[in-house]
Amino acid sequence: MSLETTFHQVLAQCPVCLNEETLTIWDVIDASTDPDLREKLLRKTLQSLDCRNCGNATLIASPLTYLDPDHGLLIECRPDLSPADLENRLSQLRQDPELAGLLAGDSCLRLVAAMNDLIEKIHAREQQLDDRVLEIVKLAVLRHGSAETPIEELRFVGAGGDELSFVLKNPDGWFQYALPAQAYDNAAQLLDRLTDTGLLPELEAETMFMLIDQAFAARCLDAFTAAETAPEEA
Ligand SMILES: [Zn+2]
Repeated sequence: MSLETTFHQVLAQCPVCLNEETLTIWDVIDASTDPDLREKLLRKTLQSLDCRNCGNATLIASPLTYLDPDHGLLIECRPDLSPADLENRLSQLRQDPELAGLLAGDSCLRLVAAMNDLIEKIHAREQQLDDRVLEIVKLAVLRHGSAETPIEELRFVGAGGDELSFVLKNPDGWFQYALPAQAYDNAAQLLDRLTDTGLLPELEAETMFMLIDQAFAARCLDAFTAAETAPEEA
């Protein structure tokens, strides 16, 4: 089995003026053969419905499989599925040995719910960072946020020097946000301890498709907190 870049075309309706335009929908993108499509995806111009009638541009989300053999990355993005259906899809993916066999060696297999999740995981993998650790870092930030300006969204965008860079959305808009790289190292240690102690059995499934999101990070932090507060054995 192999995956290669494929697309189809649809008639899509401009949500502003209801004018119909022909739009190319990408079903599979292989970043090694089509780096220009990777670029467009990261710049959020990949599936832009540019209306010739009213001039508005609208991003159209649709199911997309992203493959990057050079970085050992395979991600299925399913904005069309409910959380419950995502879980079902995860089970299906795990039973498909051919998909997992597409990548050799150390690989990262992910199912995500939204384009922004997909983009974030591409950035993480290309920077050789562990998306599981990044989710823990993000949740720690969210949990310590202030009540007056709650953080609505936090997205990793890159790493450089001694910093991790994010963009953050609160009721006032989008802002840049940076954390010391030490925050990543601390979360990585926490994940290592959870893995070593077997407190979170799902961590043993590293070579399978995983849904690594905020709920995953919450399970990690809760398991860690429970272990820390458990009475010491005599
Ligand atoms: Zn329009």
